[in-house]
Amino acid sequence: MNKKMYELGSKRSVIRDLFEYGRNLAKEVGEDKVYDFSLGNPSIPAPDCVNDGIRALIENDATVIHGYTSATGDNGVRAKISAYIKKTFGFELPSALIYMTTGAAAALSITFKALVDDDHDEFITFAPFFPEYKVFVEAGGGKLKVIKPKDENFGINVDDLSTAITPRTVGVIINSPNNPSGNVYSKEEIIALSETLEKKSKEYAHPIYLISDEPYREVVYDKIEVPYVPNYYSNTIVCYSWSKSMSLAGERIGYIAVSPKATDAGDVFFAICGAGRALGYVCASSLFQRVVANGIGQTSDIDIYKANRDKLYNNLTRLGLTCLYPKGAFYLFVKCPIESKDFCEKAKKLGILFVPSESFGVDGWVRIAYCVAPDMIDRSLPAFEKLVKECKE
Ligand code: PLP
Repeated sequence: MNKKMYELGSKRSVIRDLFEYGRNLAKEVGEDKVYDFSLGNPSIPAPDCVNDGIRALIENDATVIHGYTSATGDNGVRAKISAYIKKTFGFELPSALIYMTTGAAAALSITFKALVDDDHDEFITFAPFFPEYKVFVEAGGGKLKVIKPKDENFGINVDDLSTAITPRTVGVIINSPNNPSGNVYSKEEIIALSETLEKKSKEYAHPIYLISDEPYREVVYDKIEVPYVPNYYSNTIVCYSWSKSMSLAGERIGYIAVSPKATDAGDVFFAICGAGRALGYVCASSLFQRVVANGIGQTSDIDIYKANRDKLYNNLTRLGLTCLYPKGAFYLFVKCPIESKDFCEKAKKLGILFVPSESFGVDGWVRIAYCVAPDMIDRSLPAFEKLVKECKE
């Protein structure tokens, strides 16, 4: 047996523990007194184009719709994605460099495996970060280095990146809008990052790929712009999914897009095809490739998340908690007013479940996932009030 895989499969996760705690507590005190903010599972319906699309496809295309597509994905689907990228971001990304995947998780796993050539190869990411990066990078044979944030704005820490890059660095991973901070990196930050990566690529005479993990691209508020990374850095690989924007997390559909400006773009794409094959992905869901392509550009009603964000942010800051104002995704990052372990324990006893930031590589904060029913937020507010009071005692 592979010990590492055994460890991965048997180790208890913080989120699973919280979930089970919540279920047991609900039996004791009642469902309406448990406020579970631990999971990043979309809570709003998929846009109408999803169910309408499924119905239409099943009626018109029943013979092909459940069969394999080519490993890279259906050509018509890839062409629609390419046209959408051109129209939306003004970037020419040929369909030949788009590879359909079973969500962003598969897109990332395939990309890491495709880029690692040697078990000394390293990827770098910025805390707070999605903890599965470490699992996926190591499964691909590489190592993950994490850069701590420079300050409590949780932006890209370019200063420390320069010293963290070594001749072994093959890629840097960014995620914006960010899980867990809710931050969206600005154009200026992406430009500064690109300049550093260009300089270092030259210094070490090999490309450093920038992997842009974008499952929350459209989950943004107040019309904030999420810079399209390939417009700023040539060696970009985008890992995208419709899990959050169309509330299709369980359907597992996304893609990898290799910038045509990337060094050896065609060969990188072949390595991606090889990695997808080696990992046994075969092809992404044939039905859902077509569903998302037909509805491309549409999203679930993001205003519901915005209303949740506003209510939570306004109320928690009113109570005196320090929160990072979320520009996107559906997470609120809250600073623990007391020792983080005690804060989480006190919250749990009051039925409030959130994830300590230590799992994301940062100390002293918690992540509140507000992709929840709005009335749960209303019901939770007196418990938050009690929590803050107890922290002062
Ligand atoms: N990347 C980040 C930052 C995420 O938060 C998630 C899921 O929560 C993923 C990737 C994986 O997304 P998917 O469900 O599309 O595989």
